[in-house]
Amino acid sequence: MIETDVLVVGSGPAGSSAGKHAALGGAKVILMDKKSEIGSPKRCAEGVSKEGLKFLGIEPKERWATKEIDGIRLIAPDGTDVWLNDEIKLPEAGYILERKVFDKHMAMDAARAGAEIKIKTLAKGVDRLEDGFIVYCESMGEEFEIKTKILIAADGPESHIGRWAGLKTQTKAKNMESGIQFEMCNVELEDPNVLEFYFGKVAPGGYAWIFPKEDDIANVGLAVMASETDKTAYEHLVDFVKTCPATKNAQAVELNVGGDPVGGFVKNIYGDNILVVGDAAGQVNPLTGGGIISGMKCGMFAGKVAAEAIKENNCSSKRLSEYEKLCDEDMGHKMKRYLKTKDYLFSLTDDELNSIAHAFQDVKFEEISTSELIKQLIKVSPNALLKLGKLF
Ligand SMILES: Cc1cc2nc3c(=O)[nH]c(=O)nc-3n(C[C@H](O)[C@H](O)[C@H](O)COP(=O)(O)OP(=O)(O)OC[C@H]3O[C@@H](n4cnc5c(N)ncnc54)[C@H](O)[C@@H]3O)c2cc1C
Repeated sequence: MIETDVLVVGSGPAGSSAGKHAALGGAKVILMDKKSEIGSPKRCAEGVSKEGLKFLGIEPKERWATKEIDGIRLIAPDGTDVWLNDEIKLPEAGYILERKVFDKHMAMDAARAGAEIKIKTLAKGVDRLEDGFIVYCESMGEEFEIKTKILIAADGPESHIGRWAGLKTQTKAKNMESGIQFEMCNVELEDPNVLEFYFGKVAPGGYAWIFPKEDDIANVGLAVMASETDKTAYEHLVDFVKTCPATKNAQAVELNVGGDPVGGFVKNIYGDNILVVGDAAGQVNPLTGGGIISGMKCGMFAGKVAAEAIKENNCSSKRLSEYEKLCDEDMGHKMKRYLKTKDYLFSLTDDELNSIAHAFQDVKFEEISTSELIKQLIKVSPNALLKLGKLF
């Protein structure tokens, strides 16, 4: 039987961050992933903010930060576009990652901090002990058990670990967006340094995106809510690629499919001897679907709290509740606002989106933030005020 202080299941960005910070805090850490290559296949459009990386103390490296982004282009259903770039303060300016390299580098950071990495190791089941958990594992045909004082569930959107351990961590189907994406070449972008977002019927309950990776290479994808459409996400993507001027001559070299939990934090993100992080905990911006930075931040909080709890020999739910407090302080209020704004945005008809885009074309934005967008929205659309009034 292998014994450890902290076992992290899942070496995506959230798990590696948790493993790194638990190890930095002095705990004995095992970080495992069922994949034989951490980060591959990717299920992501790979956009992150500079601010987020800075907060996490991560220096961008050329190997995984493939493209610097300095603006956003919002496209209404009738093709009217709103450019947010130039002199505007852009907190979301950032990078397009190469996740297959980035995720491995984050796992390497955890290893350098002292965590033991186990690749191609699947967690198959969990049993509670008085002072921790036993996790049943399989690697290369071999079965074994790991006993841990603290279990960190970082097993992504389809997470099982939290539920196996007795927590309410299920994301309701109505809160799970279906994401689908091609990585394409021969993409003809108006500006290869700008993220493009397409709204309306093109992606019901979500939006379509083009995130540039190199001059003619981009992640072209969309996310839809199954309840809002009779077509599959794949059918929507094929239609989008055929009709969008930027992609009509493009060729796909990769297909990525994945769920994105956009309903906010799951009910239980901690319990006796357990913490849940990243997509498994619903730590995703509900408005954008972005979960890399938020998952890593919460992973960092989880790792730090776990290391302290081990030092104090107190892994009770009460001790570990500090983790939820830190996540709430950092993200709680924003989450609520983003959830409301998402509901509002996706309730708009194509005509309403078009008229807002027309009005936005003459607006001078000072910065790009949800509150600035809402402020301007209320100015240009009295209708929006009525609808938002119900939400805020
Ligand atoms: C189409 C799409 C586009 C997206 N675009 C963006 C974007 O541009 N920017 C952004 O910030 N976010 C984006 N996201 C969201 C982002 O990908 C996730 O929020 C992020 O990957 C979450 O990190 P994580 O570590 O929680 O989970 P994951 O990255 O999913 O990692 C979980 C890991 O757990 C492992 N695992 C699962 N079960 C087990 C088990 N039983 N045993 C062992 N290992 C296990 C998996 O192999 C996996 O490596 C997108 C999502 C989708 C679907």
